[in-house]
Amino acid sequence: MTPFVHELLPGRIVFGCGTAGAALVDELDRLDARRAVLVCTERERAVARSVAEPVQDRLVGLFDEVRMHVPVEVARDAVALARRTDADLLLAVGGGSTTGTAKAVALELGLPIVAIPTTYAGSEMTPVWGRTDARRKTTGRDTRVLPRTVIYDPELTVSLPPAITGPSGMNAMAHCVEALWAPAGTPLSAVTAEEGIRALASGVPRAVVDPADLSARADALWGACLAGAAFATTGSALHHKICHVLGGAFDLPHAETHTVLLPQVMAFYETDAADAARRVRRALDLPERTSAARALYELIERIGAPTALRDVGLGTDRVDEATDLVAELLPIAGPRPVDRNGLRDILARASAGERPD
Ligand code: NAD
Repeated sequence: MTPFVHELLPGRIVFGCGTAGAALVDELDRLDARRAVLVCTERERAVARSVAEPVQDRLVGLFDEVRMHVPVEVARDAVALARRTDADLLLAVGGGSTTGTAKAVALELGLPIVAIPTTYAGSEMTPVWGRTDARRKTTGRDTRVLPRTVIYDPELTVSLPPAITGPSGMNAMAHCVEALWAPAGTPLSAVTAEEGIRALASGVPRAVVDPADLSARADALWGACLAGAAFATTGSALHHKICHVLGGAFDLPHAETHTVLLPQVMAFYETDAADAARRVRRALDLPERTSAARALYELIERIGAPTALRDVGLGTDRVDEATDLVAELLPIAGPRPVDRNGLRDILARASAGERPD
């Protein structure tokens, strides 16, 4: 076996249908938390409040001004509220934007986070934080932002409509697939990622067809957990770097951008990342020599998620501009060297939504 170094991250996972409320009491007890601030979006405020009901007497504040990509002014307001209330814990109930907002506060104040994710973004499993200032997103790694406990309750995801379930599931799929070729990948992250692909490919299409199917929701959420764990080890490579630049510069929707790019980046690496392609095929239960990129594209079509960037905000007339921005990040390490022409090809295909050969 090739020598490797794998750093295990600390943190607890509590997984179970309908268990969030009871688990929350135990976890706050374990962390000896008496003054929690509840973080959520305005839209999920009622759900967040009802999840936090069993620890109502320990809530000292509510921050419900979460916005996508954690704008610095939102982070500043959240930090101010945590300071003003003398909080000793952040309770994040929501998607990646909510977890991200809690992380921004933890980064500044060092408060522990208990995260209850309600999408498949996977951020709750990673020590990666992000903030956006003047349309530029900055990210970094810091174990202070890694949630101390993650409570996964599939019941809290049944309200996710198919139009969010599909792309969010593919966002998690992208964490898994990229973990298979990222330079920092290890045998442990590869096993985690492969199982994540399997769980997501099983759960997400069923959850799209029947949002109330708890077994499908549990598979999808387990896949998201594995995806976050794999991504936490390996970090970004070509796929995430492209999505990161496009999201910041063109204000593209996060999960949809990941969805569209994934088959195109897979196609770019398919031959050179033979082990990654083999694992994707195996997890998707495909015969040898099937195109993994094509299979991912067809999975996206099946769940009714977008296949073309031009449909989510990046028209073909902006491909050159996008290429210039992503090219600023070159060189980007991976199983095959990528240059400006390679980037342009990936972006042109993604913009037009071309089916991988
Ligand atoms: P999000 O948190 O913005 O949620 C997407 C939409 O889903 C929102 O409209 C939200 O209101 C809605 N929603 C959430 N839960 C719901 C529920 N249970 N029922 C109905 N609607 C619900 O988006 P996201 O895709 O979850 O996360 C994207 C963000 O997370 C981005 O900013 C991205 O950069 C970040 N992220 C960070 C990491 C990391 O490791 N740091 C990893 C993945 C994503």
